[in-house]
Amino acid sequence: MSNTDFALAVEDLTVAFDGFKAIDTLTLYIDKNELRVIIGPNGAGKTTLLDLICGKTKASAGSIKFKNTELTGMAEHKRVRLGIGRKFQTPSIYENLSVFQNLEVSYPSGRSVFGALAFKCTDKIKAAVQAVAEDIFLADRLHTEAGLLSHGQKQWLEIGMLLMQEPELLMLDEPIAGMSSRERELTAELLKRISNNRAVIVIEHDMDFVAQIAHKVTVMHQGKILAEGPMDKVQADPKVIDVYLGH
Ligand code: ADP
Repeated sequence: MSNTDFALAVEDLTVAFDGFKAIDTLTLYIDKNELRVIIGPNGAGKTTLLDLICGKTKASAGSIKFKNTELTGMAEHKRVRLGIGRKFQTPSIYENLSVFQNLEVSYPSGRSVFGALAFKCTDKIKAAVQAVAEDIFLADRLHTEAGLLSHGQKQWLEIGMLLMQEPELLMLDEPIAGMSSRERELTAELLKRISNNRAVIVIEHDMDFVAQIAHKVTVMHQGKILAEGPMDKVQADPKVIDVYLGH
């Protein structure tokens, strides 16, 4: 497979903070419909890697190509337009708007008019909201104020808001933190489903959950990749057991 077949190609990526390399000549390829989970001890550089891909942090060296377009130097909002979505741990939803409205304002053409909520709700947008609401298990909560949802439902709503923009790469940082076991099961189902037609990168610590969802696992340590492959192979790797799983 040539490098152009990947959704995301990260090559020799490095970022240093005051001389400390949080990411150190890291190379990583993600396939178009792949669900990749990144694991590793605290401080390994997992969040920094996602920050570099979405443009929140600037690289010191190396290259990040998404759909063959070089991202290095590109502003964060342009990366969003190119199809990169990022969910942080704390949901950033509009608590006083309904589920429907939260999804509606996330529809790409709504961006420019959002300030005033002077938004024309076309049938096309309504259909998109309905489809996403079904995906995120909130079809029967469309008119509920977002602030009244459970913690897990708020997390799903934020994923839904990202899905409204039809990202081709979705990155999620610990998506099941604070969720009930039922919500975790549903989130696994959701993530597997959304990776059917896009690349998904998840940072996760819960190994049972990782085993359930990952196509491939990347283990990071000290800004580098320690191991990569299917979960069972990675779990049995003595290097991984030594720095991470054995603790
Ligand atoms: P992880 O997500 O794997 O826990 P992080 O990516 O958050 O790790 O952090 C990797 C390392 O980089 C840590 O040592 C952290 O302190 C450092 N780091 C991250 N962001 C910054 C920053 N903006 N300035 C200085 N150091 C940072």
